Amino acid sequence: MNYHSRKTYSIINLPALVSNYNHIANLAPQSETIAIIKANAYGHGAIEVAKALSAHVPALGVAFIDEAIELRNAGITLPILITEGALSYEDFSIALQQNFWLMIHTVEQVGWLNKQSPSYTGKLWLKIDTGMNRLGIMPSEVDNVLARLAGEQLQSLVLCTHFSSSEEIENPKTLLQIKQFERINQKHGYKKSLANSAGILNWPESHGDYNRLGIALYGATPIPVKASPVKLTPVMTLQSTIIALRDLSIGDSVGYGEIWQAKRPSRIATIAIGYADGYPRSAKNGTPVWINGQIAPMAGRVSMDMITIDVTDLAQVQIGDVVELWGENMAIETVAEYMNTINYELLTRISARVPKKYIF
Ligand SMILES: *Cc1c(COP(=O)(O)O)cnc(C)c1O
Repeated sequence: MNYHSRKTYSIINLPALVSNYNHIANLAPQSETIAIIKANAYGHGAIEVAKALSAHVPALGVAFIDEAIELRNAGITLPILITEGALSYEDFSIALQQNFWLMIHTVEQVGWLNKQSPSYTGKLWLKIDTGMNRLGIMPSEVDNVLARLAGEQLQSLVLCTHFSSSEEIENPKTLLQIKQFERINQKHGYKKSLANSAGILNWPESHGDYNRLGIALYGATPIPVKASPVKLTPVMTLQSTIIALRDLSIGDSVGYGEIWQAKRPSRIATIAIGYADGYPRSAKNGTPVWINGQIAPMAGRVSMDMITIDVTDLAQVQIGDVVELWGENMAIETVAEYMNTINYELLTRISARVPKKYIF
């Protein structure tokens, strides 16, 4: 039985997803744009997202092999890039069987690979650390690692790096990373991949043979909205409804810890979503929500199953009214600022308790 007494949903607009993909891919016509769908497609549902994109993208990307196996089990046949690469020796055999593209980012992984080499014929990416200092071999190790790969493995090799600050348009770090990468690759001339979403949008000089598109695919910008060279449509709308209304007198408080008190006679709406749904408890008083075309501020602490909103200034508010927490009418970037977080974290932390409704 698929009964939802509570009308709280994450509504996923798949045509918007495809249109975002096409708009962004058009910004880099010389590149192949890989759709990154790790973390359950940034909370949008990896299988549905993969199916919607299958006819449009050259490959998909996830963080680790478990995520890719889930896609294969659902019938997705596209190549899948594994950005954290092999985490054990066995991962190489699975990758070979399943057509996963493995990222090599440690010297240890080269050792595991060489145990299989030259029988390993899967496509390899080699990640170089140009300043993120998280994954990737050091520039000084590149020659040594390349010398240890077999001719067949080198033929389809993609050299790759990842940016630490590409969402900051004024920050010179990205150009330094690009320069260092190009210096290394000039000697070798392999296929290359540098850009994430912010790289694609902000730094045309970072476009490579492959770009790796994540957050912007979902219509969430990694950069100030005004700076975006394309109009993106938010793919996820997080929605709930008003389940209670009450009128308070001056001095009455709302919710746990009494962190909000009425300074005037006030009307409070209770909404059926809380931190157990992935709506963060860190949301401050004043965090905006959209109710029937109007914006109203949060009043009081986020509970496990509910939030409370000051609707005193709104006309015509009733039980059952639809409330948008973020989506087309309420920018997730604005909401995230009130919670001391970023759109990436909000999208990926929506919990399994919230049913997804797909628009096809
Ligand atoms: C997650 C990820 C991306 C996508 O980044 P966005 O900022 O979401 O576009 C690209 N490359 C790698 C290696 C990643 O891990």
